[in-house]
Amino acid sequence: MAVNTATSPSSSPRPSQADASDRGQEQLVEQLRNGIIRMSHAASGIDDELDSQLGMLRKKMRSTTSAPVVEALVAEVSKGILAIDAKTKRTRADNANIGHRLLHVIDLLKPGWQLRRKRKSLANSLRNDRCDFQKFLKEYHETLQSALQARLAPADAKKGQATGDAAPAAADAEATAEALEHMRNTLMVLVNHLESDEVQVEQVNALRKQLSETLVFDSMPDILESVAELAGEIRRSEQKRFEEFVQQMAGQFDELEASIKSSVGDEQDAYAERTRLQEELSRGAENIRGKIASSTNLRQLQQAVESEVEQMTGTLNTFTEVEAIRHKKFEASIGLLQDKLGEAHAECNELYNEISHLRVKTQLDPLTGLPNRSGFLERAQQEFERAVRYGNKLSLAVADIDHFKLVNDRYGHKAGDTVIVEVGALIAGNLRKSDFVCRYGGEEFVILLVETPLEKAVPVAEKIREAIGNCPFAFRDKRVQVTISVGIAELEPGQSISDLVEKADVSLYAAKSAGRNCTISSATH
Ligand code: GH3
Ligand code: MG
Ligand code: MG
Repeated sequence: MAVNTATSPSSSPRPSQADASDRGQEQLVEQLRNGIIRMSHAASGIDDELDSQLGMLRKKMRSTTSAPVVEALVAEVSKGILAIDAKTKRTRADNANIGHRLLHVIDLLKPGWQLRRKRKSLANSLRNDRCDFQKFLKEYHETLQSALQARLAPADAKKGQATGDAAPAAADAEATAEALEHMRNTLMVLVNHLESDEVQVEQVNALRKQLSETLVFDSMPDILESVAELAGEIRRSEQKRFEEFVQQMAGQFDELEASIKSSVGDEQDAYAERTRLQEELSRGAENIRGKIASSTNLRQLQQAVESEVEQMTGTLNTFTEVEAIRHKKFEASIGLLQDKLGEAHAECNELYNEISHLRVKTQLDPLTGLPNRSGFLERAQQEFERAVRYGNKLSLAVADIDHFKLVNDRYGHKAGDTVIVEVGALIAGNLRKSDFVCRYGGEEFVILLVETPLEKAVPVAEKIREAIGNCPFAFRDKRVQVTISVGIAELEPGQSISDLVEKADVSLYAAKSAGRNCTISSATH
């Protein structure tokens, strides 16, 4: 009887405690997995530096335990890295787009062959996947300065001649003014694009003000340099922030790893202790059986059995006490682990929300409430991938308000803003739900017409153009005619989104040259 009651507790606690501990571990790993998934989402949008940091974190996880669950975590981080890679490519496409627009300023300055060659090499550098945009801006800055000097030199020489060369000089001035405006708009797009970190808001605003007040082209290179510096600064600060985040995650992971190791260690000790108890109890039972077999005297036998049972009960009591203490310690350590994971989880959540919020905020244009250029690039990438995957047609239109400067000059900047808001709303109101419009910059809108070939996209653009032309805009009771010009193009095999925007932009220029208030498609010129 005594033997039975003594053996049963030693054989039953093992599976149930092991189950509890397995469940605890599973739960921990699950929470850890969630934390890492969130981290990989939160970390998306950074660059090579971060990639390598995440790589290290992944390595660390690999060496931690051999459980298949860790393999799953590694897979999640890999997915995160792929997401980062895709986003980095998007940022590159973004920069390339701005770069091409900046290069167009050099064309407007009608450069000589040497500068044209330099321009070509700069354009090629933008096509390179590993293009260093900071370096590009620096070299562009030098090229622009040379183009500007070349442009100003003959104009100065002409000033000296009191001849009738007024016409070419006027043409020069017009081309330079056009280049100034193009540069101003492009830099404005770039500056708006930089508006992603609250720390630099003041600098961004100062640059914006400086840009809108700049009347001479000569000061553009200086502004360009400030823009490039600010871009570098923002990039560095974003990078630092995310690196800190990854390091923090890695630190938390180390702590968790240490806690898991120590609780696993406790469990191993407990197992050894239980085995020892079982052995001692078996030995006790064996002794009793021996005594029964060899004993001739009942009294002697009773004494011997009693002493064995007493010894076994003592061993069992000690074990139970030790086990109770260990169990308490184990529960406390599991609780601590869960608290730590909960904290890490909450921190990840908070960061993720903050970053998502920042992303949404930075993808909306504050004036019109429409997506901005950055929002466009994200959506355009999705639509591009869908079009390529399913072989769908994708058309893109660039709409620009005609002679908008006149609206500002005659009725003021505020009236100009109202026109931009109204035009944006009219475009959005004339599109299908699946289409997309963004304020690309200034008074320019980009429309994505999904699953739409060029021949079907042109009537949509025409409908929008007519709706705007027929809209009764009025300021101080005076009717103001507002029109737009539209350039439209369709994605062709082998083209990128930035090729498509460029193609539609060329059509837009053709529409402006054709007298404005019209739509021109890339198929017709
Ligand atoms: P075009 O027909 O060739 O497009 O001539 P335009 O006058 O419309 O174009 P241009 O590019 O010469 O001038 C655009 C003007 O739009 C210059 C810039 O000051 C103004 N602009 C850009 N963004 C805003 C804005 O947010 N609000 C207001 N009111 N004006 C803006
Ligand atoms: Mg315009
Ligand atoms: Mg414009």
